[in-house]
Formats: sequence, structure tokens, C-alpha cells
Amino acid sequence: MSAYVEEHAPVIVAADGFELIDADGNRYLDGHSSLWCNIHGHRVPEIDAAIRAQLDRVAHSTLLGLANQPSIELAEALVQRAPLGLKKVFYTDCGAAGVEAALKIAWQYHRQKPGGVENRDLFVCLGSAYHGDTVGTISLGGIDRFHSLFGGLMFPALRVPTPATPGPSLDDCLAETERLLAANADRIAGFVIEPLVQAAAGILVHPPGYLRRIRELTSRLGILLIADEIAVGFGRLGTLFACDQEDVAPDILILSKGLTGGYLPLAATLVTDDIYNAFLGEPWQGRTFYHGHTYTGNPLACAAALASLRLIEQNDVLENARRIENVLDRALKPRNCNPRASSARAPMADIRHKGTMVGIELFQDVATHTPFPPERRMGHQVTLACRRRGVIVRNIGDVVVLMPAPAMPVELVQKLCDAVIAAIDDVLSAGIP
Ligand SMILES: *Cc1c(COP(=O)(O)O)cnc(C)c1O
Repeated sequence: MSAYVEEHAPVIVAADGFELIDADGNRYLDGHSSLWCNIHGHRVPEIDAAIRAQLDRVAHSTLLGLANQPSIELAEALVQRAPLGLKKVFYTDCGAAGVEAALKIAWQYHRQKPGGVENRDLFVCLGSAYHGDTVGTISLGGIDRFHSLFGGLMFPALRVPTPATPGPSLDDCLAETERLLAANADRIAGFVIEPLVQAAAGILVHPPGYLRRIRELTSRLGILLIADEIAVGFGRLGTLFACDQEDVAPDILILSKGLTGGYLPLAATLVTDDIYNAFLGEPWQGRTFYHGHTYTGNPLACAAALASLRLIEQNDVLENARRIENVLDRALKPRNCNPRASSARAPMADIRHKGTMVGIELFQDVATHTPFPPERRMGHQVTLACRRRGVIVRNIGDVVVLMPAPAMPVELVQKLCDAVIAAIDDVLSAGIP
């Protein structure tokens, strides 16, 4: 907090397309989609108009005991596009709340399903997982910097190795996962996963095929698969949903961040009919899901989400995201120290990317992956150097995260890469005495 206060972070007062404008009139390319949310840029006429039109009808009315039109239309639109079998939508107002709802739905489902059981009390999560900052979601978290302090406050979770870090092979990782799941199968309520890319862990990319194998394993053992697509959904990886890439249908799907095009807070937790049916019954039977956030299904947010979905299709945003992936690949590969990538120029970092998501991990010694001392705040220095070059990004420790909006024109993506590479060069060359 002290550093933040001293630094005078830019105060954003306006935006124009893919640029943010601060109180001093400086313009910055929005290089992280305003924290992984924005899809089409800012002040998009169609989304602005949809929100204004809704504002002329009603800004908010509750979904507790009532319904509203945009939330019904959005639920239909999501179900049409979601992986097979996800038929019902439960709204909350942020990603963490969407995950919390998923956990409670899974817990209650096992107790109310036909032949219901009381002993399903464990959730499985991956190493380095991130699912939000509330007490329930940090219990699934595996990032020490965020989570270790709160140990005593959290419920226990069963952790399986992430397949993303260098270490055991995919087969060994899956074998260990299978052993842990099989040993605890009748106690497990759900397996929670960020499909394909673990974003907050520093853009850790899973090997192809992993998600499908986890789906097969969880299906075989009768474990609910809970996919947290809060970061990866809505075109971030070149498909509407990450699960689409491996033909996987989870039992529960959580959406937020890009859901409204990055305009307004909203989350949706989608479930199968099988799960939904377990909550049916006469009111006095007590099968109700007693979980309601005050602003659930807010009409303005749902109207923005509907407009954003239409634009994704009209403007072929998924195709653009795939073009962005190629631009990122070409621009960043020459500076990657990762041995799988070819190095034409001096390697500067371990660069991981998939779709529009990039993590550039800085090391004091790239060959041995020796980190910089934390007090040098190298990642943060790069964030500041990027800002001086007119680009907003945000680091997680010494991982510099780039996340252009899926609709960003490729020329701007190239500009983003050039500025970030130059900023890293600024910081690395200044740092060597
Ligand atoms: C951002 C994020 C969340 C939490 O969403 P909030 O809206 O910040 O609560 C959960 N899971 C993943 C994968 C995320 O990236």
C-alpha cells in the first residue's frame, strides 16, 4: 500500500476504443483488457446503446421472487451456446460469487440427488489454482502469496498436481491425479478447474488433452466437473468457451469477466438438468437453494452481456482472437528462453501464451530460471516502464501479463508487444550495474 500511495497511479477518466485516458490527458493502450474483462474495446456504440435502452426501462429489479426480461434472454442465449447439457443459469454478480454458488450447488446436489449421500465433503483443485478472493474460493487457491496467510480460515481441499509446470510428464501427473481421486472418490463433491490456462498463476498453459482426460476420469468416478471459465471464456482463447477446444461438457460452468464485454459486474453459474432437478420439490421439503445475491441478474448488466454476445458473432471476434494468437507468437518467440521456442535474439524471459493470454516471466538468470530478489520488484518495474511507453499492463510478481481484448486489431497487438519488449529491455539494461 505504501508503494502504491507514493506512486500516484494514473486516474482513468475516459476511454476511446482500446485506449484509456487519464486525468492528465495521457493515453494508454489497454494491454490487459482492463483486468481480463474487456472484449470489444471501450465505449462500444452497440453496448452503450443497449445499456441506455435498458436504462429507459428499468435499471434494477430483483430476481428473488421476480424475473426480468434481459436476464431471461441472456440465460437462453448462454444455454444455446454453452457446452452440451448445461441447461440452467444461476446469476451472481462477480466471479468469486459464481464459484461460491457452484460449490454450494454441488454440495447440496449430492445430498438431494436420488440416493443422495451425506459424505461428499471434499473439493479437488489444481496446484496453483485461483478461483477468487472470498473465503470459500481461497480455500481452493494454491498461490502462496495470496492464500497462505489465511490457512486457518479455509476449509480443506484435495490438491492434485497442475500439469502446467515443468516437472512430471502429463501421464505421471494424470496417474497421480487418478490415484488421489480413486482413493477419495466417494467423498469428493466436485473437481474444480480453470480449463486450458491457469491465469492468475501466471498464465500456466495445460498440455492439450489434459482437460479431456480429467473429464473422462471424473465421469468414470461420478465426480462433478466444475469449470471456472471466468478468465478464459468469451473468446479469450479463440473459442467462445475453452471447454469447446477439447469437446468437454462440464457439469457446472462459471462465467464472469468477459460476460458483459467487460462493462458491468455479472456472473453466471450454469448447471445440467440433472443437477437442477435435485432442487425440485414442495417448498416445505427444504430442497431450495438458499443463495441469493442482492443484485443477481441485474438488467443493465444482462443487457450489456446480450449486446456483447451479438457483437462477438457479428464481428467474428473469435477469428480475430486466433489472428492475435499468431501475432503474439511471432512477436514474442524470438525473446523466449523456453527451450521449446527458438531464440533468434537474446532470450529475456520464459514466455507462455495461448490465445490472447500471455505471461512473460522474468528471471535473473534465464538459463537456470533463477528469480530476481523480490525487493527489486522487476515485474512491477516493467509495468511502470510500459506505462511510460503508453501501455497499461499488470504484472503478477515477476510475470508480466499481456491480455489484449479478443477484438483488438492486430496492428495494436503488434504495438503492444513492441512496447512491452522495449520496456523489458529498458528495465533489464538499467538493472545491470
Ligand atoms: C478473476 C477470476 C476469478 C474471480 O472473479 P472476481 O470477479 O474477481 O471475483 C475467479 N476465477 C478465475 C479463473 C479468475 O480469473
